[in-house]
Amino acid sequence: MTSIPDNFIENLSSRIDIVDLISRYITLKKAGTRYKGKCPFHDDNDPSFTVNSDKGFWYCFGCSTGGDAISFIRKQEGLDFVEAVKFIADIYGIPVPETGKSESSNRVLYDINQAAKIMFHKFLSSGMEGRLFRKYLTERGFNPETIKAFEVGASPESWDFIKDGLSNFKRDDMVRAGVLINNKEKDSIYDRFRYRLIIPIIDNLGRVAGFGGRIMKGDGPKYINSPESDIFKKSNILFGLSLAKESCRESGDLIVMEGYTDVMMCWQSGLKNSCAVMGTALTEDHIPVLKRFARRVILLFDGDKAGVKATVKSVSAMVDSGLKVLVAKIGKGNDPASLAHESGADKIKSIIENAISGDDWLISMFAKPVSNKPLQDKMKMLANAARFINKHESEPMRDELIEKATIQFKVPASAIIEIMRNLKENKGKASNGNVARMVSNIEKAERNFLMSAMNYPDTFGELKELLDQDDFDVPIHKLAFKVMTGIE
Ligand SMILES: [Zn+2]
Repeated sequence: MTSIPDNFIENLSSRIDIVDLISRYITLKKAGTRYKGKCPFHDDNDPSFTVNSDKGFWYCFGCSTGGDAISFIRKQEGLDFVEAVKFIADIYGIPVPETGKSESSNRVLYDINQAAKIMFHKFLSSGMEGRLFRKYLTERGFNPETIKAFEVGASPESWDFIKDGLSNFKRDDMVRAGVLINNKEKDSIYDRFRYRLIIPIIDNLGRVAGFGGRIMKGDGPKYINSPESDIFKKSNILFGLSLAKESCRESGDLIVMEGYTDVMMCWQSGLKNSCAVMGTALTEDHIPVLKRFARRVILLFDGDKAGVKATVKSVSAMVDSGLKVLVAKIGKGNDPASLAHESGADKIKSIIENAISGDDWLISMFAKPVSNKPLQDKMKMLANAARFINKHESEPMRDELIEKATIQFKVPASAIIEIMRNLKENKGKASNGNVARMVSNIEKAERNFLMSAMNYPDTFGELKELLDQDDFDVPIHKLAFKVMTGIE
């Protein structure tokens, strides 16, 4: 964590004109000793937003918020304190004193990526070689405005396009930024992205954190990304957020998708508030970034197995984040890009309108395979559901989910509570997902299930039709089941 000296922050406020700064966002008119305008933070019909130039403060009589230049930028741009200070300093060209080495050594990585981005974009936009990429994009339905907005580029079939093109940077730094590969065995350094369509991955401060590259011909994986580095961390970057944040702030909704092309195509069709994870699910590291811009996160992953898996992980990661998480069902075989391209933004919007709460969706997902699977699998699913419910801090929320699981799994609440308790007790003894522990949990779960079954004969009556004694792993449980159902 870098820090900025206090005296720099104090001086910053005196060196800038708050009226000039805020005028970059809203129109301000002089009214007596103050300036007035329409508040950007609430739906303001008459100008209730005032700025006091001399004191360097702003205040809104409509939504009772106010502060100084830094707090305005924090709110407007969704930044934390240090980022907002840097943001303002950057606008006015004031150098920020560097404390800590990491910050300044990271800066060169952003500079390299920025320079590479310009080269890639230029290559795509001009010349014969770039024409092939432009043709590909046109065929996929992307128009020039979208290509420009996302600063899409391309790399030629060359091992040293970037290596030679950015000769003013140190090779080591370029390797660190990920645009070059250092092959120590062969003792050679060469371009990472060769003959690929290049999608710059811009972070929420507008910096180029890395690139995604789609192969156009030759061997190699279809998609590659910049490697993980100090500035490129898949677990907290969201592709497209820099373009989405304004629209996101207006609606409070951020739609999270799987791929670059999903986001780009949705953007093109008029759905501006979407972003994509970087080949993963949402993680807990995304929460602070998401919270700056959104109140609701809508997961719109592909309808295939990988998409469902990513949705499960994402919902689990967002528990107790303070964000409302919804799951939009896109249907098997569909993806947002093709839907947006073929049917337009309205189709996606209607899917989003029918989105359901992430918690509800996940519980029903866990219970879904129950009806035609052996009890061992059911118990695993129940344990998954119980583990998920356990993650919730709020007791009313847990109760609500237990009730839902009761309905979905057709088991009494007491059985679920018992499994939840067992999982909690075992926590710390073994890591999550530990198979050995899962097995012992299955034994416990079987026992609990049978005990509950005795207490709830009505539910058991329905359930026993679906089970037989071979569904139980533990011999004594097989016997118990036999006794209870009166077989033989
Ligand atoms: Zn206001």
